[in-house]
Amino acid sequence: MECSKENRSIMCHVTQCANHSSCGEYCALDRITVGTHESNPSMDQCTDCLSFQKK
Ligand code: SF4
Repeated sequence: MECSKENRSIMCHVTQCANHSSCGEYCALDRITVGTHESNPSMDQCTDCLSFQKK
């Protein structure tokens, strides 16, 4: 199987995302947007990839 595009500057483990590379541990997008759902983020769990798309 041929791998889809992968951006080696964006490592990602969310294989359930439609933007994830078909192989490897990378995002396939050129850029992503990261945001937060907290008013005062204090740990990595407070952040979200806003470019996530359901498969
Ligand atoms: S869009 Fe976000 S969640 Fe989806 S593969 Fe890229 S970095 Fe991961």
